[in-house]
Amino acid sequence: EEIANPRALPKAEIAYVDQLVETNICKAGPVFFHKGNDFPELLKNCLDAGPEAVIAAITQAQLRGHGGAGFATGLKWKLCREAPGATKYVICNADEGEPGTFKDRVLLTRSPQAVLMGMVLAASVIGAREGIIYLRQEYIYLKAYLEQQLQLFREQRLLGNNILGHADFNFDIRIQMGAGAYICGDESALIESCEGKRGTPRVKPPYPVEQGYLGMPTCVNNVETLVAVTRVMQEGAEWYQSLGTEDSRGCRLMSVSGDCQRPGVYEIEWGTSLNQLLTLVGAEDPWAVQISGPSGECVAVDKGGERRFGYGDLSCNGSVMIFNRSRDLLGIVKHFMQFFVDESCGICTPCRSGNVDLRNKMERIIAGRGCQQDLDEMVSWGELVRSTSRCGLGGTSPNPILTTLQQFPELYQAKLTEQSGVLLPSFDLEAA
Ligand code: NAD
Ligand code: SF4
Repeated sequence: EEIANPRALPKAEIAYVDQLVETNICKAGPVFFHKGNDFPELLKNCLDAGPEAVIAAITQAQLRGHGGAGFATGLKWKLCREAPGATKYVICNADEGEPGTFKDRVLLTRSPQAVLMGMVLAASVIGAREGIIYLRQEYIYLKAYLEQQLQLFREQRLLGNNILGHADFNFDIRIQMGAGAYICGDESALIESCEGKRGTPRVKPPYPVEQGYLGMPTCVNNVETLVAVTRVMQEGAEWYQSLGTEDSRGCRLMSVSGDCQRPGVYEIEWGTSLNQLLTLVGAEDPWAVQISGPSGECVAVDKGGERRFGYGDLSCNGSVMIFNRSRDLLGIVKHFMQFFVDESCGICTPCRSGNVDLRNKMERIIAGRGCQQDLDEMVSWGELVRSTSRCGLGGTSPNPILTTLQQFPELYQAKLTEQSGVLLPSFDLEAA
């Protein structure tokens, strides 16, 4: 049916997305899933106002990147605009690979035109002629649907030559499929992949805003950030700035999964507490929450339930996995470490080798063959991998171990106790 009617979104996807609970606890009403868009009018107003005014609005809104790192979007666009280059590029990072994260997929399904509008606005600001949506391989079923959305934009003269009659504004977007590599979510590996090379992260700096795709200044933004830009330009900087907290303005989407009654995609204001979110999604007896997927932190709910989402405290890339007390947390940590072992690109030693060593240590502990020295070495080796790896993968891969060691030390200690209970009776020092 999809092949016969490529303009339609696969029915299974519609059914699945409709099952997701899209709940809004922002005082401004739906932010990311806002309906009723007049994009030609919006773009005309932005072009009339000029690129500096768009940058000023995003800067005033204090919009920060929603991919996870939270870099100021207005500054990124300004740097890219000012960077010297014969040509420039806009890339939408739709390589949503963090386990437990699926909000970009829902945005691409529900608000695709707001994503495209964000890309067109970026192009108008930095002066790009070409844009790329880097779509993760697992979302290939969305490609035909997104091609249709691009075509609708072209028909409205929001893409193509002489956009909205502006003789000097020519911009179009193509879709580049990923090949299933988690590392290509790193913007510089993504750029390498777009260039037809192996997805290996580059050393930064130089940042993509200076030397990105084909060595030219490139603005890479996450799907959700691009929608946020569109919404800021629709509603105004003051509106966006009125949401959230002093250090974290606005709101964000959360992919919620695991042990709760209502998993799905939620829109929350920054400043919402973990406990508030857990209540909203019907989590009964939550024990541990993995924030931002395996690369983030594991929080014990009884210690950290009152912590609030925001850049200053519970920073989050939009994913929350809930575990109740029936779950084998150490087994999950080992599983996460295996994920990083599998997904490391292998170019730098601390990550290539260190993650294997950490995974092996974890296996040793779980098997009841570990000792205190193993725990101490997991901390020191983890810190080493974190601080000496080239990119964010190695920079965060020890987190499952480091954060559970800190939040749930008793689980690890119990394994050591188990060891002494098993081994010591068989090792009689006096007889030896
Ligand atoms: P980063 O801090 O190096 O960079 C963030 C962004 O700011 C990049 O676009 C970078 O080019 C730009 N930037 C930073 N400093 C700059 C400067 N001085 N000049 C110009 N531009 C600058 O972080 P990162 O390694 O790109 O991303 C790490 C984040 O990715 C983590 O927070 C993690 O949570 C997140 N992540 C998300 C997913 C997902 O599926 N959404 C998966 C893995 C990781
Ligand atoms: Fe590759 Fe890991 Fe080094 Fe990143 S940290 S460049 S994934 S080996």
